[in-house]
Amino acid sequence: MKFVSTRGQIPPTAIDDALSAGLAPDGGLYVPERIPMLASWQPTARLADTAQAVLAPYFAESSLRDRLAAICDQAYSFDAPLRPMRGDGAGPDRDFLFELFHGPTAAFKDYAARFLAGALAGLRAADAATGTAPTNTILVATSGDTGAAVAAAFHRRPGFQVVILYPDGKVSPRQAHGLGCWGENVRAFRIDGSFDDCQRLAKQALADGDLRRLVPLSSANSISLGRLLPQAAYYAHAATRFAAEHGDALNVIVPTGNLGNACAALVARRMGAPVGEIRLATNANDTLPRYFAGEDYAPRPTRATLANAMDVGAPSNFERLRHWHDGDDARLRGAIQVQGVDDATIRATIAAAPRRHGVVPCPHTATGLFLLERLREQGDERPWAVAATAHPAKFESIVEPLVGHPVEPPPALAASLAQPARADALPADYAALRALLAAAPIERGSY
Ligand SMILES: *Cc1c(COP(=O)(O)O)cnc(C)c1O
Repeated sequence: MKFVSTRGQIPPTAIDDALSAGLAPDGGLYVPERIPMLASWQPTARLADTAQAVLAPYFAESSLRDRLAAICDQAYSFDAPLRPMRGDGAGPDRDFLFELFHGPTAAFKDYAARFLAGALAGLRAADAATGTAPTNTILVATSGDTGAAVAAAFHRRPGFQVVILYPDGKVSPRQAHGLGCWGENVRAFRIDGSFDDCQRLAKQALADGDLRRLVPLSSANSISLGRLLPQAAYYAHAATRFAAEHGDALNVIVPTGNLGNACAALVARRMGAPVGEIRLATNANDTLPRYFAGEDYAPRPTRATLANAMDVGAPSNFERLRHWHDGDDARLRGAIQVQGVDDATIRATIAAAPRRHGVVPCPHTATGLFLLERLREQGDERPWAVAATAHPAKFESIVEPLVGHPVEPPPALAASLAQPARADALPADYAALRALLAAAPIERGSY
């Protein structure tokens, strides 16, 4: 299996090179030459086993092929349960919360960040048998959840260090803590600027050929294949088990920002997993709802909302979605439905959720829950799973006042909150970042 670019200007590329590069050299996004159909889908008890089956065709010619099982065992070491919710009148076993928040940083990004870390570590081991390769710096610009997941995934991995850039004062206190609590080979920098400034600085460094000859630099952003493909595993796992038990395909509602998680659901369905309909919920950033309602695709400036991990005006994976529908807008609009949910509705949905569904959703998950409520009102009686993209305790300052009681953090999140956190100030100035990266490794230690 080879990989091509959505812009079609590069020769077919091996997965090892696509994983290391992140973005394709023609500026496009890597996609598999074709999405393979699996011959049979067996429900498995362990998510790691489904993950291995889903990912094996993509890694058939990779130097990681023989390590794939071990990488999956490590990356998918916590479950993604389908929790039945109290129904809205559709009968039992129709409404599910698809809990993707049982990882170390309590958001779905843990799965793919951990897979990517395992894969890059495996490539490094295959590459540098002598163990003398210089430290690889993973540079991440983040508005919250990505940085924490990547930090946790690479923490204490020999041969890697992580540099996190986040906008000072623009992430929640708990998110800031989750970025600065790791230490050792992970360092967080508070940038005196916006998220866009952080992203510009990271892009500038990744495009700086002279710097990259000096220090090996990689990105871990959401357009990497190593972030996208691993997310197909949990949809395939849940849908296969659901179909075996209930004889029905599992329809999914995915809270969406950059379309990474949504594209993964589509990949699972195209591979033949019994995923039914896919509906997407956005927040008030309405680039996608407008496009799916028939307007031309037009990225817009980002608006700040309660579901801040979905504050995206130019969804980076849109190019993949369009590619998979042969650039045919009508086909794409026919394949997926999208609805936007504003902040007032997010608040009302969170406040009513304990009574209505017996669950407490995070603000992102609430957008999906709202779509489920609309479907039930319209008389839809099919089984639906709402992807719960983060644990509500990560957004306690929004959720707790609405539900009227404290929300207990899960154990891994509680443990990182108990650690001291530290982030250094850095101006939004490329020269400062470059000097810092050129001095790698940033902190010498035993890793
Ligand atoms: C990143 C994130 C999203 C959006 O996911 P995409 O793959 O960018 O669409 C939704 N919810 C939470 C909690 C997130 O961290």
